[in-house]
Amino acid sequence: MSAHRRIKASIPPSRAGSLDLVGGELAWDFTNTSSGRGSPAKLEHLRNFDTLIQWVEHARVMPPSDCAYARAELAGHPRRSQRILERTIEMRELIWMIGTALAEQRPVSGKLLELLSAVHAENLRHAEMKMRFCSYIWVWNPRRDIQAAILGPITLSALTLLMEKDLQRTKRCAGQECGWLFYDTTKNNRRRWCEMRVCGNRAKVRAARQRQRQVRKTNRGVDELPG
Ligand SMILES: [Zn+2]
Repeated sequence: MSAHRRIKASIPPSRAGSLDLVGGELAWDFTNTSSGRGSPAKLEHLRNFDTLIQWVEHARVMPPSDCAYARAELAGHPRRSQRILERTIEMRELIWMIGTALAEQRPVSGKLLELLSAVHAENLRHAEMKMRFCSYIWVWNPRRDIQAAILGPITLSALTLLMEKDLQRTKRCAGQECGWLFYDTTKNNRRRWCEMRVCGNRAKVRAARQRQRQVRKTNRGVDELPG
């Protein structure tokens, strides 16, 4: 097996179609399509157009029939698909930087806000207003523009978080090697983990090991005391 194939084989498969949607808002679930940011365990789940559409369907950005349309329309158009994937990832990183600033309670830079607004304006060119229950909402149809149909609802979610939601409730998971963002809807606004059973438990195990090490060190210290 060549070195290249060995490296490829060691990368875990993408979980784009099954990632836990724990961000509380679409924009944060979108940023959580990359795990372990800033650590050697970093994992990209949006690896090509197929995995992107898997996530779009999983997170209900578009209904399955629209996803099927997008897949069929772009089959055999690798360059167009790649452009959409690259643009989507670019937007994800922008939204992640915005979310991280909120989580660290820093002001979001004007440049990031400007870029987000510009993409929203671009997406809106392809949106229609439709009645849903008792109000009108923007709806995107991939038959008009596939990229806008993917990014439209996501940028709208990011804008809504900035303009209508409590900024202090956007958090970054306290887990080492995580980086996931979420909107805290708990009553006391004290959620710390993307998922207790993942990062919360890992932290507990780490803390227990640390305590054990500390105890061993202290015991050794006692043994070594002159008698
Ligand atoms: Zn986490």
